Amino acid sequence: MKTRLNLPIIAFIAVSALCAITTDASAWVYPEHRDIALQAVVRLSPQRRMVFDSIWAIARRGNETRLCSLVVEPLQARNPNSLDWASWSAIGGDHSCSPQQLLDNVLRTDWILDVADVAARLKIDLAGSKEMYDRVNALRNSDIRMQRADPNYATRAGSNNVHFLLSRTSASMNMRQYAHDCLVPGAELNALGSYAIFHQSAMRKVTRVHSDNTLTDDQRRDLLLSALADEAFALHFLEDTFASGHVAGTWGETSVRKGTHDYYCEHGMEVTTWDGRQTILLGDAYMRPADAENAAKTIRTSLEQFIDAYTGVLENVPAETGSDFVAYPFNVCQNNVMPALTDIDSATIDRLTDIIRDLPVPGLADGSGALPRFRAELGGFVGFNSGARLSGMSNGFNTLQPEPGGLASLDINLRLGMGLEGVLNASGDGLVFIEGGYRIDGASTQSFYAEKDLSVGGAVTAAIPSRSAYQVRVRMPFWLLPGDLIVAIPLLIFSPQTYQQMAVVAGNGGIIPWQSAIATPIGRFQFMLGRELGATFYGYGTSDRAFMPKEAANGTILPEFVGIQSLYLDVPFIEYKPFRSFASNQSSGLTIQLFTGFDIPIKSEAFNTDGTTSPGPVLQTVVHAGLRFVFDWRYYW
Ligand SMILES: [Zn+2]
Repeated sequence: MKTRLNLPIIAFIAVSALCAITTDASAWVYPEHRDIALQAVVRLSPQRRMVFDSIWAIARRGNETRLCSLVVEPLQARNPNSLDWASWSAIGGDHSCSPQQLLDNVLRTDWILDVADVAARLKIDLAGSKEMYDRVNALRNSDIRMQRADPNYATRAGSNNVHFLLSRTSASMNMRQYAHDCLVPGAELNALGSYAIFHQSAMRKVTRVHSDNTLTDDQRRDLLLSALADEAFALHFLEDTFASGHVAGTWGETSVRKGTHDYYCEHGMEVTTWDGRQTILLGDAYMRPADAENAAKTIRTSLEQFIDAYTGVLENVPAETGSDFVAYPFNVCQNNVMPALTDIDSATIDRLTDIIRDLPVPGLADGSGALPRFRAELGGFVGFNSGARLSGMSNGFNTLQPEPGGLASLDINLRLGMGLEGVLNASGDGLVFIEGGYRIDGASTQSFYAEKDLSVGGAVTAAIPSRSAYQVRVRMPFWLLPGDLIVAIPLLIFSPQTYQQMAVVAGNGGIIPWQSAIATPIGRFQFMLGRELGATFYGYGTSDRAFMPKEAANGTILPEFVGIQSLYLDVPFIEYKPFRSFASNQSSGLTIQLFTGFDIPIKSEAFNTDGTTSPGPVLQTVVHAGLRFVFDWRYYW
């Protein structure tokens, strides 16, 4: 009995581990990042474009297979066998933690080409999405594929806000004060600050190439390659600052940060840029051509600085002095505060100002005037739910009761759980709970002995009279087989990252993602066989009483009074839910489940006329199938 009681506790330990998974969205999806960079390059002046092409030509020497011959390949489609520079800004930040890792992944891994292919598919799917639900499904498919191509995809990022703009601390703050807050050493790591770190590093490298005549050809190549990685990595974060969900302001609990982010990305927001221009931004996976154009303009400004430093048009850029010529190793997943920027002089500030001018003024920090915030269904909750079910039954308990029937029941439950909804996207389902409650069944429609008309007896003569019982229910996603996340708990000690990756896959529908939700115009459907199991304990206090037919020695059928104890297992396999809505910390909703159930007799006893009991008849399992309507209210803490 003890082990049985421990199961829910173990489940909760596992769930707590799942919560360590980072759930911060990291802004534009891969094809959006790449499109912005691509447009920025395409819009360079012909002179600068020529220079940039020549930088690329030098940098790709020795890596001609992996790096495309053109610096940007606007027509690149699925199954790319080379990567252009535009893809680097998508790989930076989301598929690598530093420019050094970026370059490493680009040049030396095979999975990165799979990632590029998944991105190309996503681009096609998003372009073909007419409705919101198409988009949700496209993202779901892409996230499942991304996680497969790059197992660290969901767990790579740290818990910092590096993909976000810092919120403003006062409404009267000007651009310079804001820039200072973002760049000062020790400030929380942020998108603008990260851009500045890596852009500055790229600028120093190209300046060195321009000014140092002693470099060998290989050293020039290595420096340019590293500089391109630094710049692409920088631009990832600059691109992020144009995603609405990353401008609204981010602070507080993960669930609120994620909910707010998701809301503004989807619905967009009106912003003013620091130079006073008004515009509307949308966010991750919702990018419109106007959004790409808007961001590409600023990205181009940064690239122009990079090219002009290379040609020496921009003077006063300090040159890189080291001798290892590697891409900048600063890791944005592991660091949480801004490092000191090297060589910040007034010329650097002026160049940064040219960039910041075009950026949206971010929302205010917590307090009066902050933008409304929303909460994702993440984290622990307590809730009530009540269900109503209509169930068809295969037969009665007694072998002389072969007729099918039906019954209706009501239940009310207290639920304790953990929401992990949308760990990667709106189709994810990481819901975990245990619940306990009480259930009341109406009498079954078939009477205890079909061959006699017993309708005059009403419910008293039903094959299964009205019953009530306590019930429990558990739900947990699984990786391959139900319960495997519990069995795999020892992994938490030996390889917590592996466990988290399993959990992410489980939350997204499993390794064979047949349990991933499907979005439709009317809501979401999900196969969920094995995710949820209910058990009802009938007749465990006092056995439930029923009349049953009994064949007497002379062949006549007589009624017998029988006490039954049974265990009913409830196995829902399809679930329908209307789309989730954003709320602060409560949620309520209707779920409709298609279920099958098994009412398994445990014990039967016959009551004799003299008041004694004797062993009852051998009983058979009653198979149920039907619909359960659940009204569920949750309070998240
Ligand atoms: Zn990002």
